[in-house]
Amino acid sequence: MGEMHWLNKEGVPHDFFPQLKGYVLLSEKTAEALLAGAPKTLDQVFAAAKASKPQAFALSATARIHTVANTTVIESPNIVAELKGSDATLRDQYVVYTAHVDHLGICPAVEGDNVCHGALDNASGTASLLEIVRAYASLPKPPRRSVLFVFVTGEEMGLLGSDYFAHYPTVPLKSIVANVNIDGAPGVYFPMKDVVVLGSEHSTMSNEVNSAAKALGYDLSPDPMPEEVLFIRSDQYSFVLQGVPAVDVTDGVKSTDPKVNGLDVVKKWLVTRYHTPLDNMDQPIDFDSAAKGSVMNFLVGYEVAQRNNVPEWNQGDFFGSTFGPRHNATGE
Ligand SMILES: [Zn+2]
Repeated sequence: MGEMHWLNKEGVPHDFFPQLKGYVLLSEKTAEALLAGAPKTLDQVFAAAKASKPQAFALSATARIHTVANTTVIESPNIVAELKGSDATLRDQYVVYTAHVDHLGICPAVEGDNVCHGALDNASGTASLLEIVRAYASLPKPPRRSVLFVFVTGEEMGLLGSDYFAHYPTVPLKSIVANVNIDGAPGVYFPMKDVVVLGSEHSTMSNEVNSAAKALGYDLSPDPMPEEVLFIRSDQYSFVLQGVPAVDVTDGVKSTDPKVNGLDVVKKWLVTRYHTPLDNMDQPIDFDSAAKGSVMNFLVGYEVAQRNNVPEWNQGDFFGSTFGPRHNATGE
C-alpha cells in the first residue's frame, strides 16, 4: 500500500523524515541471521525493547540498504460546512465536529468479497454527522458559538485529513474551542445503556459530556480497553496535537437488554469484522440505538457552543501540558 503523507504549501510531505536514510522490515528468520555473532540474541533484543531499555550495539554482519521511492500525488478533499453562531461576540469561536469519510478500499477478500465497505467504520459516523447537521440546521435559533462540520479524508492512512485541517484550519486555530469526533456512530451494535467517552477525563468537556449523558439517561463507563489507546487513534487526536480539547463518544459496555453483554459484542466485532469486507450492510445494526447515540453527540457539541466558558484542559493533564501551548500559537 505504500504510505501516504499530506503535502504542505511548499509541496513537502508532512511527518516524513529524510534523515532516516533507509529502513527495512525483516522476518524473524532474517533478523536472527543479521544478529548472528552480535552481543545480544534476537530474544534479548525483544526483551529489552519490551522493558523500554534503549539499546544500540555493533553487528558483525553488514548490510547495504538501498531505497527506491516512487511517489504519486493524489487529491482527496475534506468537506467543511459552517453554521454561523447567533451570539455577536461568541460567533467568532467554533465547535468542530469531525467524521472520516474514507476507508481501505480494496482489501484481502473474505467470502469472495474484496471491498472494505466500512459500513460502521465509518459510514455510520458520517451518516450520523449528516443527521446532526440536519438537526442544527433545523434549530429555530443557531447556538451562540459557530459550528464547523468537517468530513475528513484519509483517516485510515494516518489521520491525514484531520491533521491537514488542524494545520490549515478554515478559521484561526485559536478560535476552535473543541472537537467532537465520530468514528463509528455510538450505539450501532446493541441497545446501548451507557457510553464510553474518550478524552472526557482530560478536560472540562467532562461537564458537557456529563450533562448530555444525564439528559439522555446514559450511564458513563470508563474505557474498558485502555490498552487499545483509542484516544490517540482517531481524528480527535489531530486536534489534541494542536492543543484543542476533544472527545470521541464511543460505544458503551452495557445493553438495556439484560441478555446482551455489550463489551462482548464490541470485542467480537473488532476481531471478526473490523477492517474487513464483513463491515458491510448485512451485519446487524441497531438504528434506534444509533439514533439516540447521535443525539448524544449533538448535545455535547451544542452544550459547548452554548456555555459561557470554553473547554479547558485539566490542571496538569499530560495532553494539555504537552500540546496546549500550541493552541494559542499562530500556526503554520
Ligand atoms: Zn474509523
